[in-house]
Amino acid sequence: MIEKFQAVVIGGGPGGYVCAIRLAQLGLKTACIESRGSLGGTCLNVGCIPSKSLLNLSEEFNKVQNLSNKGIEIGEVKLNLPKMMKSKDKAVTILTKGVEFLLKKNKITYFKGVGSLKSKNEISIIDNNKKEVLVKAEKIVIATGSVPISLPGIEFDEKIIVSSTGALKLEAVPKKMLVVGGGYIGLEMGSVWSRLGAEVHVVEFLDHITPGMDKEISNEFMKILIKQGINFHMQHKVESIKKNKSGAVVSTLDKNGNNKDFECDVVLVSVGRKPNTNNLNLEKIGVELDERNRIKTNKNFQTNLENIYAIGDVVNGPMLAHKAEDEGIAVAENITGQSGHVNYNTIPGVIYTKPEVASIGKTEEQLKEENVKYKIGKFSFMANSRAKAIDDAEGFVKILADEKTDKVLGAHLIGPHAGELIAEIGIAMEFGASSEDIARTCHAHPTFSEAVKEAALSVDKRAIHS
Ligand code: FAD
Ligand code: NAD
Repeated sequence: MIEKFQAVVIGGGPGGYVCAIRLAQLGLKTACIESRGSLGGTCLNVGCIPSKSLLNLSEEFNKVQNLSNKGIEIGEVKLNLPKMMKSKDKAVTILTKGVEFLLKKNKITYFKGVGSLKSKNEISIIDNNKKEVLVKAEKIVIATGSVPISLPGIEFDEKIIVSSTGALKLEAVPKKMLVVGGGYIGLEMGSVWSRLGAEVHVVEFLDHITPGMDKEISNEFMKILIKQGINFHMQHKVESIKKNKSGAVVSTLDKNGNNKDFECDVVLVSVGRKPNTNNLNLEKIGVELDERNRIKTNKNFQTNLENIYAIGDVVNGPMLAHKAEDEGIAVAENITGQSGHVNYNTIPGVIYTKPEVASIGKTEEQLKEENVKYKIGKFSFMANSRAKAIDDAEGFVKILADEKTDKVLGAHLIGPHAGELIAEIGIAMEFGASSEDIARTCHAHPTFSEAVKEAALSVDKRAIHS
């Protein structure tokens, strides 16, 4: 007999599992299908969590090497890479098991296998043993995420030519690592391997890193990374990657048409990710895709088939775990007759390098393009007492506010704990706050958050400590 569910979610990543939990909380008999054998999706298995674990561990490694400058003498510091990788893997296992527990706790049926649509209400699940199970669903949510993009004609072997997945589990520190693409993954994973001892070169197609980020922050970020020893080759286009005995040769063309070859032992190709619409049988049942192969949805996350919804990396918008989660909650609420919604203007983006980089809302470039008149408040961590006290004072906070109403339109931070500090601005923006509201809020001393308050004061040219 075919089991029937009120809702079935395909994909157990941050979009899918969160959606399944919310659907169950709202009283629907729910199932979640995941093919990788472990829940948590890209994020927990091969994305956010393992990368943050390695970023933290490599930062600790770097920190202890420099402690003697601060009067703490320790013996020789050595890297034990297999142990470091085990520590990362342990974090992943704990968290993915945790999600499995949450599904159980919420009485969600978890199917391990590849889900595909047989019809608009019927899903086939093929498990590892190629056994097929059929289920029926009144509502279906597709949350199948994304996969790395490679360059034309170049295949990942995950040893020499690696995607982020391979870069998270290298067995030795490369002598020389070439990173194609100066975006989120290239800079986070480039930082990890640079701190562990690799000579890292980033080849970027554009004249700036982290496209879409406020330019002033992006320029400062690049300067800091150069100081840390990362090499950048801007406006270079990768033409080919050829493996040889010792690694690979990456051939590039610069903006003047000059050819430059880079020899390296590992190449990380991090030029973006593409929606994962494989295996779903979408064409056959008539679910429409957009020009970039993402599933087309309306503002309620509904596809052109009214009982089928899609969320997360497989649809339009930033490919971020918290965006997928919020869409998962909103779609569950919409399915059950509530008014779920996501405010796309207040989705923070954080790069977890040292220092961290965080941004929310409009960049200066966007405001100019939209002809919005704005004021800028800026405050450097060099003048923040906490940052100075612990000798971690690189970077600044930048707040953009409407010239007339003073409403906060965006904020861009580079500095210590920027990824945590941005939450305050997110709340302020959700509440429609002005920069004066932030400036008049008492912030504890000595904290990094005082830099946010001072930046807000600086919008009105009245920062105290600069
Ligand atoms: P996914 O997490 O990709 O989950 C989709 C799941 O669906 C997968 O597990 C897949 O196996 C499964 N699936 C696919 N097809 C089927 C099928 N037919 N049947 C059954 N199951 C299927 N984002 C952040 O916000 N912060 C970060 O710090 C961050 N770091 C990252 C670091 C790296 C190295 C990478 C690669 C990504 C990072 N991201 C980060 C992005 C983040 O991982 C994604 O935005 C997020 O995971 C998207 O969630 P999702 O649920 O839409 O898809
Ligand atoms: P990205 O879009 O962040 O950066 C890709 C970079 O590659 C861009 O700078 C682009 O100009 C460059 N590029 C593209 N083609 C190129 C070429 N042929 N030669 C040289 N450079 C080229 O993509 P990503 O770093 O692969 O990350 C994918 C997505 O994963 C991100 O957009 C982000 O949504 C998510 N992610 C988020 C985090 C985080 O939140 N901290 C971390 C990792 C990944």
